[in-house]
Amino acid sequence: MKDKGAKHTLIERDFSYKLTESHNDNNNRTGPAAQRRSKLYLHLKKWLEKAILDYGMIAEGDRVLVGVSGGADSFALLDLLNSPMIFVPKFSVMAVHIDLGFAGGEGDVDLIEDELKKIDSEYVIEKTEIGPLAHSEFNRKNPCFLCSRLRRKRIFEIAEAKGCNRIAFAHHRDDIIETLLINLFYGREISTMKPDQSIFKGALHIIRPLSYLREGLVKKYAGERGFNVVANRCPTSRTSKRIYIKELLHSLEKENRQIRHNIWTAMHHVKTDYLL
Ligand code: SF4
Repeated sequence: MKDKGAKHTLIERDFSYKLTESHNDNNNRTGPAAQRRSKLYLHLKKWLEKAILDYGMIAEGDRVLVGVSGGADSFALLDLLNSPMIFVPKFSVMAVHIDLGFAGGEGDVDLIEDELKKIDSEYVIEKTEIGPLAHSEFNRKNPCFLCSRLRRKRIFEIAEAKGCNRIAFAHHRDDIIETLLINLFYGREISTMKPDQSIFKGALHIIRPLSYLREGLVKKYAGERGFNVVANRCPTSRTSKRIYIKELLHSLEKENRQIRHNIWTAMHHVKTDYLL
């Protein structure tokens, strides 16, 4: 499907003043993130670093573009990656926010920009009309497919333009579990999001440093840090399959609290001999 209808307005405001060496070195940061040492912060950092090391997500000198939606998870990821690492080698971070152009979200870009400044990160913000385009008459049946395709395409292009070889998304453990069920129930396949996914013959990697972390803890951390989270303006987000699966898991957990843990563990014990 062609994406000619998507209009993009790059509002990379005063980018140069955000590009300083001190903001660019994850082992030499002195901003608010570097001074924070709550128990929750230390716990999340430990598991974030473990996931990065286990999957070899980041190597010395990598430049990581962090996708920021304006939600709690993405602010938390950016904040954690923008703080000093203990074991992960030196890398640099910048954030990207793709504004989808939904009605009611006119002031969101300013709020997100304020948070990015508070987190002390380099950033690019781009205004688009991807959201309304994905929900237009010709595409009513599956807005998510076109929306995520166009958004990713722009993020890949920005990564290339900015010399980033890693794109970090804020998908956590619960997202990975839910995606497995979505793909199984609706996609007719057994698959999920990988913590480290190589694309374009290895020129770019999509990484998910929150892979080991539960959603509740990530959200709790975002609350602890007081991030100004913006509302999800997408009309489809309230009726998506993900919401249904989330609620299904929630109800199953009332009888067996180990459900999510069991699904997570099962992904590490795939017996292909017992599949068709
Ligand atoms: S839920 Fe909305 S914002 Fe998310 S991918 Fe679907 S259309 Fe896009």
